[in-house]
Amino acid sequence: MSELMLLKNIDNPDASRIETYEKSGGYQGLRTVLRDYDPDQVIETVKSSNLRGRGGAGFPTGLKWSFVPKDNPLPRYLCCNADEGEPGTFKDRILMERDPHQLIEGMVIAAYAIGCKTAYLYIRGEYDVSIEHCQQAIDEAHALGYLGQNILNSGHSLDIHIHKGAGAYICGEETALLESIEGKRGQPKLKPPFPAVAGLYECPTVVNNVETLACLPHLFRRGEDWFSSIGPKDAPGPKLFGLSGHVRKPGLYELPMGMPLGEMLEEYGGGALNGAFKAAIPGGVSAPMFPSDLFDVKMDFGSLAAAGSMLGSAAVIGLDETASIPVVARRITEFFNHESCGKCTPCREGLTWAAKILRRIEAGQGQVGDVEQLEMLCGGIFGKSFCALGDGAAWALGATIKHFRHEFDALIAPQTMVS
Ligand code: NAD
Ligand code: SF4
Repeated sequence: MSELMLLKNIDNPDASRIETYEKSGGYQGLRTVLRDYDPDQVIETVKSSNLRGRGGAGFPTGLKWSFVPKDNPLPRYLCCNADEGEPGTFKDRILMERDPHQLIEGMVIAAYAIGCKTAYLYIRGEYDVSIEHCQQAIDEAHALGYLGQNILNSGHSLDIHIHKGAGAYICGEETALLESIEGKRGQPKLKPPFPAVAGLYECPTVVNNVETLACLPHLFRRGEDWFSSIGPKDAPGPKLFGLSGHVRKPGLYELPMGMPLGEMLEEYGGGALNGAFKAAIPGGVSAPMFPSDLFDVKMDFGSLAAAGSMLGSAAVIGLDETASIPVVARRITEFFNHESCGKCTPCREGLTWAAKILRRIEAGQGQVGDVEQLEMLCGGIFGKSFCALGDGAAWALGATIKHFRHEFDALIAPQTMVS
């Protein structure tokens, strides 16, 4: 296994305290940035490092920062998206609970780069310990001059406010998240304009994921060469993978991207709980599953996209021989149907019908034509929904049918079939 960076202090019970963090090199990245870089150089370094967003979409971080207009007199905001809600995903929670100063230091670096003086940390409301430990980290950083006015005598100032979510998955979508901070109902808004141009209170706003920001202190402390030496060229840097489901050793693993899915499940996940794996979801339940004969796919943004899925939130869910794929499909679809914000018809109505059909198939009351009906609904939702929730739901359901149609057919009771 390669050297741990994001998780290096994770087993130290005092890792969340600032003294522990400083002893292991903490805040050295920020000191380097404030001493040796102007804001544009920070953006250029992050761009050339090829750090890609760890929230799900893998968008290049430095490029996103560079979209913040330089000539706009409005305030600029940084919002950290810690509304981790994708089923199977728990990486940001562990970072915030166990080693939150990585995130705080990363936020100060990002804010310096984009010229932001007020930042928001939007944490999923159920994450009580994350909220407590991040607030403690913010207070400690203030006390030692890493936050507040004139940070380390650099002239750069920053305050971070924690905003607690209220339990809606859709508030992890960046425009809904910004609406929620403004006190409005959390619903996605049309893009463009992207938040980098018109975001919070219509001001330029960068929204970055927890893990993305937590990579920054290490990038600036260890340097670009070190960063690029980890993983493939188009997806470098440390990466967290959350292994769960029917694996013998569930947990959070820091691994380079590019490892084959099967190797990750066997070597790190410890293999299948019962017999062999039947399938696996590579990046949270929005990411289409792979049957086990496609487990040689590499776990990086490009390889997974080319194979018809995505790295997403890197939540890898193993499914062994005991799993019923129609039941998995029903549970995923019910989740998205429940979390649909209702703004657009394809997602709101399409997922309601899909969930109903899946429930009756599972209950042994499926009818001839149900699977075709599901495929038609997926086609009516995918690419026609307002945000990624609808697309992800239809994409994930479509993959279950594509690879495991025989399991759906087998559940449709023969007596209901018309000969
Ligand atoms: P997206 O591709 O629309 O955007 C990605 C980011 O890049 C956004 O911040 C967006 O503003 C920015 N961007 C893209 N094009 C831009 C441009 N031209 N100019 C300026 N900025 C630009 O994806 P998304 O809808 O934000 O995210 C979808 C992903 O979220 C899915 O892949 C899914 O895996 C993931 N997800 C993660 C969780 C979680 O818990 N971590 C939950 C739900 C979904
Ligand atoms: Fe809301 Fe679903 Fe439409 Fe997204 S796709 S805006 S969650 S109804």
